[in-house]
Amino acid sequence: MKTLIRKCKYCNIYTMEEKCPRCSRETNMALPMRYSPADKFQKYRIKLLEGNENGKDNNKEL
Ligand SMILES: [Zn+2]
Repeated sequence: MKTLIRKCKYCNIYTMEEKCPRCSRETNMALPMRYSPADKFQKYRIKLLEGNENGKDNNKEL
C-alpha cells in the first residue's frame, strides 16, 4: 500500500492533497520513514519515488 504524505512547509502541516487546505500553496513530498532506524530503506523508497516521477511529473523539487 502506497501512501504519499505531503507537507506544507508554510503551515508545517501534513496532508495528502497537492494543495495545502489552509493556504492553498503547493505541498511537498514528506518522507515519514526518516524516523525509521533502517536508513537503507529510505534510500530504496526514494529510488521508487524517482522512478514514479519519470512517468508522472506530479511534483517538482524546490
Ligand atoms: Zn499551507
